[in-house]
Amino acid sequence: MTRRSLAACTSCGACAEACPETILEIAANGVALKPEVGECTFCGACADACPENVFADNWTMAHVMRISDDCLAKAGIACMTCRDVCPESAISMRPRIGVPFLPELDTGRCTGCAACSAACPAEAIHPVEKEPENV
Ligand code: SF4
Ligand code: SF4
Ligand code: SF4
Repeated sequence: MTRRSLAACTSCGACAEACPETILEIAANGVALKPEVGECTFCGACADACPENVFADNWTMAHVMRISDDCLAKAGIACMTCRDVCPESAISMRPRIGVPFLPELDTGRCTGCAACSAACPAEAIHPVEKEPENV
């Protein structure tokens, strides 16, 4: 989850067990978020449960979200689900004449919480690593 400290993860699974949203899993390189499952509320239970030096005090996600070409609006089907669920108002809808509005994601506001990816009916929203200057 955090770019700088994931190397310290021993894959013990304590964070995944502690997460009340059940959105963490142990992957090949340590703990990973399941962006299709649910939303991180930043409750901090994972960091509190971790016995290793993985989570910084002010940890943030190492990713932001990106909307792919699988978005329903790009196929001409109206949908504003991601805009409606984003707690940071990071997704806006760009008006277009005669066709559905297009969602646009402001990566500067995105916390990587995954509320949008979990809610998207087309599974069109995926995490991408933050640019180094934004980590
Ligand atoms: S901060 Fe997010 S990932 Fe960690 S336990 Fe809470 S909901 Fe789960
Ligand atoms: S929820 Fe998914 S399909 Fe709907 S507008 Fe957002 S990205 Fe497109
Ligand atoms: S991952 Fe980013 S764009 Fe998606 S709901 Fe969370 S803050 Fe909004």
